[in-house]
Amino acid sequence: MSESCFICNKHNGDIQTSGVKIYEDEFVYVGHIDKGGKPSYLGHIMIDLKRHAPSLGDMTMDEAKAFGVIMARVSKALKETEKAEHIYAAVSGNSVPHLHMHIIPRFPNTPEAYWGAWEVYDWPEAPFGKNPEIIQVCEQIKSYLEETSYE
Ligand SMILES: [Zn+2]
Repeated sequence: MSESCFICNKHNGDIQTSGVKIYEDEFVYVGHIDKGGKPSYLGHIMIDLKRHAPSLGDMTMDEAKAFGVIMARVSKALKETEKAEHIYAAVSGNSVPHLHMHIIPRFPNTPEAYWGAWEVYDWPEAPFGKNPEIIQVCEQIKSYLEETSYE
């Protein structure tokens, strides 16, 4: 835990972000991307490691298992509940040195010129929403995760 870390502070409930918590266990925390009140690309999900560690290569194997499983489950949820046709994933860490993975859906009819984890944002018809829509997406994914098992 690092007191100056945005992600640690979010996990502790010290700062409020868009949407609602989708999932949390001993190892991982899942929520929607936060754009500081500006409209967000709907379904852009963040999977955070609970522990303050910077990169994919810093995980213990127990953390890695939990991270991999939730990555797959959230991706399935986006396909089922948000009708995503493809899922992009990215880990950067340039701005916050606390492992977090971006899970970004691509929706049907997205022109190929906008295919890519960051490119989908530039499609003029991409679904953007503010907090009420973000909360709705979070609740749908949360319900899907609660209703489906690991197997
Ligand atoms: Zn942290």
